[in-house]
Amino acid sequence: MENSMIDGFGRDISYLRLSVTDNCNLRCRYCMPEEGICKKRHDEMLTEEELVMAVEAAASLGFTKLRITGGEPLVKKNILSICRRCAAVEGIRELALTTNGILLPDLAEPLRKAGVQRLNISLDTLNPDKYRYMTRRGTLEQAVAGIEIALRTGFERIKLNAVLIGGFNDDEIPELAGLTLKYPLDVRFIELMPMGHDELSKGAYISAREVLRRLPELRPAEQDGGVARLYELPGALGKVGLISPLSEHFCGTCNRLRLTADGKLKPCLHSAAQFPVKGLTRCEMAEQIKAAIAAKPEWHGALSFECRSRETRHMNQIGG
Ligand code: SAM
Ligand code: SF4
Repeated sequence: MENSMIDGFGRDISYLRLSVTDNCNLRCRYCMPEEGICKKRHDEMLTEEELVMAVEAAASLGFTKLRITGGEPLVKKNILSICRRCAAVEGIRELALTTNGILLPDLAEPLRKAGVQRLNISLDTLNPDKYRYMTRRGTLEQAVAGIEIALRTGFERIKLNAVLIGGFNDDEIPELAGLTLKYPLDVRFIELMPMGHDELSKGAYISAREVLRRLPELRPAEQDGGVARLYELPGALGKVGLISPLSEHFCGTCNRLRLTADGKLKPCLHSAAQFPVKGLTRCEMAEQIKAAIAAKPEWHGALSFECRSRETRHMNQIGG
Protein backbone atom coordinates (compact mmCIF):
# COMPACT_ATOMS: atom_id res chain seq x y z
CA MET A 1 0.00 0.00 0.00
CA GLU A 2 1.28 3.48 -0.85
CA ASN A 3 1.35 5.69 2.22
CA SER A 4 -0.18 8.93 1.17
CA MET A 5 -1.04 11.08 -1.80
CA ILE A 6 0.50 14.53 -1.53
CA ASP A 7 -0.74 16.93 -4.20
CA GLY A 8 1.19 19.67 -5.97
CA PHE A 9 0.47 22.10 -3.13
CA GLY A 10 1.65 19.85 -0.29
CA ARG A 11 -1.82 18.72 0.78
CA ASP A 12 -2.25 15.11 1.91
CA ILE A 13 -5.32 13.87 0.03
CA SER A 14 -6.92 11.17 2.15
CA TYR A 15 -10.66 11.86 2.16
CA LEU A 16 -13.07 10.56 -0.48
CA ARG A 17 -16.63 11.86 -0.76
CA LEU A 18 -18.61 9.25 -2.58
CA SER A 19 -21.97 10.16 -4.08
CA VAL A 20 -24.07 7.00 -4.40
CA THR A 21 -27.08 8.56 -6.14
CA ASP A 22 -28.28 11.85 -7.60
CA ASN A 23 -31.90 11.08 -6.64
CA CYS A 24 -33.48 12.71 -3.65
CA ASN A 25 -36.74 12.61 -1.72
CA LEU A 26 -36.58 16.40 -1.19
CA ARG A 27 -36.16 19.33 -3.57
CA CYS A 28 -34.28 21.99 -1.59
CA ARG A 29 -34.55 25.26 -3.48
CA TYR A 30 -30.81 25.96 -3.40
CA CYS A 31 -29.92 22.49 -4.63
CA MET A 32 -32.37 20.88 -7.01
CA PRO A 33 -35.11 21.98 -9.41
CA GLU A 34 -38.74 21.19 -8.52
CA GLU A 35 -39.11 18.75 -11.40
CA GLY A 36 -36.04 16.80 -10.32
CA ILE A 37 -33.16 16.11 -12.62
CA CYS A 38 -33.10 14.51 -16.03
CA LYS A 39 -32.53 10.91 -14.99
CA LYS A 40 -29.45 9.23 -16.34
CA ARG A 41 -29.68 5.72 -17.69
CA HIS A 42 -29.07 3.03 -15.09
CA ASP A 43 -26.04 1.78 -17.03
CA GLU A 44 -24.43 5.24 -16.85
CA MET A 45 -24.29 5.11 -13.06
CA LEU A 46 -21.65 3.29 -11.01
CA THR A 47 -22.76 -0.15 -9.87
CA GLU A 48 -22.33 -1.28 -6.27
CA GLU A 49 -19.29 -3.29 -7.40
CA GLU A 50 -17.75 -0.22 -9.00
CA LEU A 51 -18.47 2.00 -5.98
CA VAL A 52 -16.73 -0.48 -3.69
CA MET A 53 -13.89 -0.94 -6.17
CA ALA A 54 -13.32 2.83 -6.28
CA VAL A 55 -13.11 2.88 -2.48
CA GLU A 56 -10.64 0.00 -2.57
CA ALA A 57 -8.56 1.84 -5.17
CA ALA A 58 -8.57 5.00 -3.02
CA ALA A 59 -7.67 3.05 0.13
CA SER A 60 -4.78 1.38 -1.70
CA LEU A 61 -3.38 4.89 -2.28
CA GLY A 62 -3.68 5.87 1.37
CA PHE A 63 -7.19 7.29 1.66
CA THR A 64 -8.50 6.66 5.18
CA LYS A 65 -11.73 8.62 5.39
CA LEU A 66 -14.89 8.05 3.40
CA ARG A 67 -18.12 10.05 3.38
CA ILE A 68 -21.16 8.67 1.60
CA THR A 69 -23.43 11.35 0.19
CA GLY A 70 -25.73 12.15 -2.73
CA GLY A 71 -28.45 13.23 -3.70
CA GLU A 72 -29.99 11.53 -0.73
CA PRO A 73 -27.98 8.38 0.00
CA LEU A 74 -30.77 6.80 2.03
CA VAL A 75 -33.12 6.55 -0.99
CA LYS A 76 -30.63 4.14 -2.57
CA LYS A 77 -32.06 0.62 -2.22
CA ASN A 78 -28.70 -1.08 -1.58
CA ILE A 79 -27.34 1.61 0.76
CA LEU A 80 -26.82 -0.79 3.67
CA SER A 81 -24.85 -3.22 1.56
CA ILE A 82 -22.74 -0.36 0.13
CA CYS A 83 -21.99 0.93 3.64
CA ARG A 84 -21.18 -2.54 4.97
CA ARG A 85 -18.78 -3.26 2.12
CA CYS A 86 -17.12 0.16 2.24
CA ALA A 87 -16.65 -0.10 6.01
CA ALA A 88 -14.86 -3.41 5.47
CA VAL A 89 -12.34 -2.02 2.96
CA GLU A 90 -8.84 -2.32 4.40
CA GLY A 91 -7.42 1.10 5.22
CA ILE A 92 -10.76 2.89 5.62
CA ARG A 93 -10.73 4.04 9.23
CA GLU A 94 -13.65 6.44 9.22
CA LEU A 95 -17.00 6.00 7.50
CA ALA A 96 -19.41 8.94 7.64
CA LEU A 97 -22.65 9.70 5.82
CA THR A 98 -24.53 12.91 4.99
CA THR A 99 -28.34 12.78 4.91
CA ASN A 100 -31.43 14.94 5.12
CA GLY A 101 -32.56 12.64 7.94
CA ILE A 102 -36.05 11.90 6.58
CA LEU A 103 -35.46 8.13 6.33
CA LEU A 104 -33.40 7.78 9.51
CA PRO A 105 -36.27 6.49 11.66
CA ASP A 106 -36.05 3.21 9.70
CA LEU A 107 -32.37 3.30 8.80
CA ALA A 108 -30.36 4.75 11.72
CA GLU A 109 -29.91 1.45 13.52
CA PRO A 110 -29.12 -0.62 10.39
CA LEU A 111 -26.64 2.05 9.22
CA ARG A 112 -24.82 1.97 12.54
CA LYS A 113 -24.70 -1.81 12.35
CA ALA A 114 -23.41 -1.57 8.77
CA GLY A 115 -20.39 0.36 10.09
CA VAL A 116 -21.35 4.04 9.63
CA GLN A 117 -19.63 5.86 12.50
CA ARG A 118 -20.64 9.46 11.94
CA LEU A 119 -23.66 11.27 10.55
CA ASN A 120 -24.13 14.78 9.22
CA ILE A 121 -27.80 15.71 9.03
CA SER A 122 -29.06 18.75 7.12
CA LEU A 123 -31.52 21.03 8.89
CA ASP A 124 -31.94 24.63 7.75
CA THR A 125 -34.88 25.70 9.88
CA LEU A 126 -36.90 24.79 12.97
CA ASN A 127 -40.10 26.24 11.55
CA PRO A 128 -42.42 23.61 9.97
CA ASP A 129 -43.81 25.96 7.30
CA LYS A 130 -40.35 27.20 6.32
CA TYR A 131 -39.03 23.63 6.20
CA ARG A 132 -41.81 22.64 3.84
CA TYR A 133 -41.22 25.75 1.71
CA MET A 134 -37.45 25.21 1.38
CA THR A 135 -37.50 21.43 0.84
CA ARG A 136 -40.77 21.41 -1.17
CA ARG A 137 -41.39 17.78 -0.11
CA GLY A 138 -40.50 16.92 3.46
CA THR A 139 -41.81 17.80 6.90
CA LEU A 140 -39.84 19.15 9.84
CA GLU A 141 -41.45 16.45 11.97
CA GLN A 142 -39.86 13.71 9.84
CA ALA A 143 -36.43 15.36 9.95
CA VAL A 144 -36.56 15.91 13.72
CA ALA A 145 -37.69 12.31 14.29
CA GLY A 146 -34.66 11.24 12.25
CA ILE A 147 -32.30 13.37 14.35
CA GLU A 148 -33.75 12.09 17.62
CA ILE A 149 -33.40 8.48 16.58
CA ALA A 150 -29.85 9.10 15.37
CA LEU A 151 -29.00 10.59 18.78
CA ARG A 152 -30.24 7.43 20.49
CA THR A 153 -28.42 5.09 18.10
CA GLY A 154 -24.87 5.72 19.27
CA PHE A 155 -23.19 7.45 16.33
CA GLU A 156 -19.84 8.89 17.36
CA ARG A 157 -20.59 12.49 16.62
CA ILE A 158 -23.66 13.97 15.01
CA LYS A 159 -23.42 17.26 13.14
CA LEU A 160 -26.40 19.28 11.97
CA ASN A 161 -25.69 21.35 8.86
CA ALA A 162 -27.67 24.52 8.20
CA VAL A 163 -27.14 26.51 5.01
CA LEU A 164 -27.28 30.21 5.90
CA ILE A 165 -29.95 31.90 3.79
CA GLY A 166 -30.55 35.61 4.30
CA GLY A 167 -34.22 36.46 4.78
CA PHE A 168 -35.01 32.79 5.39
CA ASN A 169 -33.17 31.47 8.43
CA ASP A 170 -30.86 34.24 9.65
CA ASP A 171 -33.49 35.07 12.27
CA GLU A 172 -33.14 31.48 13.53
CA ILE A 173 -29.37 31.55 14.13
CA PRO A 174 -29.77 31.70 17.95
CA GLU A 175 -32.40 28.97 17.97
CA LEU A 176 -30.40 26.65 15.69
CA ALA A 177 -27.15 27.23 17.62
CA GLY A 178 -29.16 26.76 20.82
CA LEU A 179 -29.68 23.09 19.88
CA THR A 180 -26.10 22.55 21.14
CA LEU A 181 -27.32 23.48 24.63
CA LYS A 182 -29.97 20.76 24.55
CA TYR A 183 -28.35 17.95 22.59
CA PRO A 184 -24.85 16.44 22.36
CA LEU A 185 -24.35 17.46 18.75
CA ASP A 186 -22.59 20.15 16.72
CA VAL A 187 -24.48 22.72 14.66
CA ARG A 188 -22.63 24.03 11.61
CA PHE A 189 -23.61 27.03 9.54
CA ILE A 190 -22.57 26.83 5.88
CA GLU A 191 -22.40 29.76 3.49
CA LEU A 192 -24.72 29.38 0.51
CA MET A 193 -22.65 28.56 -2.57
CA PRO A 194 -23.60 30.03 -5.98
CA MET A 195 -23.78 26.89 -8.05
CA GLY A 196 -25.93 24.70 -10.26
CA HIS A 197 -29.53 25.23 -9.37
CA ASP A 198 -30.61 27.88 -6.99
CA GLU A 199 -33.77 29.83 -6.98
CA LEU A 200 -32.66 32.13 -4.27
CA SER A 201 -31.87 35.74 -4.96
CA LYS A 202 -28.42 37.26 -4.66
CA GLY A 203 -29.48 38.80 -1.34
CA ALA A 204 -29.81 35.30 0.08
CA TYR A 205 -26.05 35.01 0.59
CA ILE A 206 -24.88 35.99 4.04
CA SER A 207 -21.43 35.59 5.48
CA ALA A 208 -20.81 33.10 8.29
CA ARG A 209 -19.53 36.10 10.27
CA GLU A 210 -23.19 37.03 10.69
CA VAL A 211 -23.43 34.12 13.15
CA LEU A 212 -20.78 35.75 15.36
CA ARG A 213 -22.57 39.09 15.13
CA ARG A 214 -25.89 37.54 16.18
CA LEU A 215 -24.33 35.45 18.95
CA PRO A 216 -21.66 37.55 20.72
CA GLU A 217 -21.57 34.97 23.53
CA LEU A 218 -19.92 32.42 21.19
CA ARG A 219 -16.37 31.63 22.33
CA PRO A 220 -13.62 30.01 20.22
CA ALA A 221 -13.47 26.27 20.96
CA GLU A 222 -10.79 23.64 20.49
CA GLN A 223 -10.40 23.08 16.72
CA ASP A 224 -10.61 19.58 15.23
CA GLY A 225 -8.70 20.12 11.97
CA GLY A 226 -11.89 20.06 9.87
CA VAL A 227 -13.20 22.76 7.55
CA ALA A 228 -15.40 24.41 10.19
CA ARG A 229 -14.09 27.07 12.56
CA LEU A 230 -15.39 25.93 15.91
CA TYR A 231 -17.00 27.99 18.67
CA GLU A 232 -19.18 27.16 21.63
CA LEU A 233 -21.93 28.63 23.72
CA PRO A 234 -21.34 28.68 27.49
CA GLY A 235 -22.56 25.40 28.99
CA ALA A 236 -23.19 23.76 25.61
CA LEU A 237 -22.95 20.02 24.95
CA GLY A 238 -21.73 20.52 21.38
CA LYS A 239 -19.94 23.06 19.22
CA VAL A 240 -21.05 25.65 16.70
CA GLY A 241 -19.12 25.46 13.43
CA LEU A 242 -18.77 28.08 10.71
CA ILE A 243 -18.02 26.90 7.18
CA SER A 244 -17.12 29.80 4.90
CA PRO A 245 -16.34 28.66 1.34
CA LEU A 246 -16.96 32.21 0.07
CA SER A 247 -15.82 34.63 2.73
CA GLU A 248 -12.77 32.65 3.96
CA HIS A 249 -12.04 29.71 1.73
CA PHE A 250 -10.29 26.68 3.23
CA CYS A 251 -8.65 25.39 0.03
CA GLY A 252 -5.19 25.46 1.66
CA THR A 253 -6.18 22.50 3.84
CA CYS A 254 -8.45 20.71 1.36
CA ASN A 255 -7.75 16.98 1.66
CA ARG A 256 -10.65 15.67 -0.42
CA LEU A 257 -11.58 14.18 -3.71
CA ARG A 258 -15.15 13.64 -4.91
CA LEU A 259 -16.63 10.82 -6.92
CA THR A 260 -20.03 11.41 -8.51
CA ALA A 261 -22.70 8.73 -8.78
CA ASP A 262 -22.08 8.57 -12.54
CA GLY A 263 -18.42 7.84 -11.99
CA LYS A 264 -16.60 11.17 -12.41
CA LEU A 265 -13.74 12.00 -10.07
CA LYS A 266 -13.72 15.70 -9.26
CA PRO A 267 -10.48 17.31 -8.09
CA CYS A 268 -12.43 20.32 -6.76
CA LEU A 269 -16.12 20.92 -6.05
CA HIS A 270 -16.05 24.14 -8.07
CA SER A 271 -14.06 23.16 -11.12
CA ALA A 272 -15.45 21.57 -14.26
CA ALA A 273 -12.52 19.11 -14.51
CA GLN A 274 -13.42 15.48 -14.12
CA PHE A 275 -11.81 12.05 -14.51
CA PRO A 276 -14.10 9.14 -15.45
CA VAL A 277 -13.82 5.77 -13.72
CA LYS A 278 -16.95 3.99 -15.01
CA GLY A 279 -16.06 0.60 -16.52
CA LEU A 280 -12.43 0.66 -15.34
CA THR A 281 -10.52 -1.98 -13.40
CA ARG A 282 -9.35 -1.25 -9.85
CA CYS A 283 -5.81 -0.50 -11.06
CA GLU A 284 -7.10 1.84 -13.75
CA MET A 285 -9.29 3.56 -11.17
CA ALA A 286 -6.24 4.07 -8.94
CA GLU A 287 -4.44 5.73 -11.90
CA GLN A 288 -7.41 8.05 -12.43
CA ILE A 289 -7.40 8.93 -8.72
CA LYS A 290 -3.72 9.88 -9.02
CA ALA A 291 -4.49 11.99 -12.10
CA ALA A 292 -7.36 13.75 -10.31
CA ILE A 293 -5.11 14.50 -7.32
CA ALA A 294 -2.45 15.90 -9.65
CA ALA A 295 -5.13 18.16 -11.14
CA LYS A 296 -6.27 19.62 -7.83
CA PRO A 297 -6.16 23.41 -8.15
CA GLU A 298 -4.55 25.54 -5.46
CA TRP A 299 -7.91 27.10 -4.71
CA HIS A 300 -11.39 27.20 -6.20
CA GLY A 301 -11.07 30.75 -7.50
CA ALA A 302 -13.28 33.68 -6.63
CA LEU A 303 -16.84 32.67 -5.84
CA SER A 304 -19.71 35.07 -5.53
CA PHE A 305 -23.16 35.51 -6.93
CA GLU A 306 -21.66 37.46 -9.85
CA CYS A 307 -18.82 34.97 -10.27
CA ARG A 308 -20.51 31.60 -10.03
CA SER A 309 -18.97 28.19 -9.58
CA ARG A 310 -17.31 26.74 -12.71
CA GLU A 311 -19.23 23.56 -11.89
CA THR A 312 -22.55 23.94 -13.67
CA ARG A 313 -24.23 20.80 -12.40
CA HIS A 314 -26.60 20.79 -9.45
CA MET A 315 -25.26 19.98 -6.00
CA ASN A 316 -27.31 16.77 -5.82
CA GLN A 317 -25.51 15.56 -8.98
CA ILE A 318 -22.07 16.16 -7.55
CA GLY A 319 -22.47 15.12 -3.95
CA GLY A 320 -22.45 17.87 -1.38
N1 SAM B 1 -29.22 14.91 0.72
C1 SAM B 1 -28.22 14.99 1.71
C2 SAM B 1 -28.39 16.22 2.57
O1 SAM B 1 -29.14 17.10 2.21
O2 SAM B 1 -27.74 16.26 3.62
C3 SAM B 1 -26.81 14.90 1.16
C4 SAM B 1 -26.49 15.65 -0.09
S1 SAM B 1 -26.62 17.41 0.01
C5 SAM B 1 -26.20 17.91 -1.64
C6 SAM B 1 -25.20 17.78 1.02
C7 SAM B 1 -25.16 19.15 1.64
O3 SAM B 1 -25.00 20.11 0.62
C8 SAM B 1 -26.41 19.55 2.44
O4 SAM B 1 -26.06 19.90 3.74
C9 SAM B 1 -26.94 20.73 1.67
O5 SAM B 1 -27.56 21.65 2.52
C10 SAM B 1 -25.68 21.28 1.05
N2 SAM B 1 -25.92 22.14 -0.11
C11 SAM B 1 -26.63 21.87 -1.24
N3 SAM B 1 -26.61 22.92 -2.08
C12 SAM B 1 -25.85 23.88 -1.49
C13 SAM B 1 -25.44 25.20 -1.85
N4 SAM B 1 -25.79 25.77 -3.01
N5 SAM B 1 -24.67 25.89 -0.97
C14 SAM B 1 -24.28 25.35 0.22
N6 SAM B 1 -24.62 24.10 0.61
C15 SAM B 1 -25.40 23.38 -0.23
FE1 SF4 C 1 -31.83 16.58 -1.58
FE2 SF4 C 1 -29.81 17.13 0.03
FE3 SF4 C 1 -30.16 18.52 -2.26
FE4 SF4 C 1 -31.88 18.86 -0.29
S1 SF4 C 1 -29.70 19.35 -0.24
S2 SF4 C 1 -32.41 18.52 -2.47
S3 SF4 C 1 -31.96 16.88 0.63
S4 SF4 C 1 -29.65 16.38 -2.11
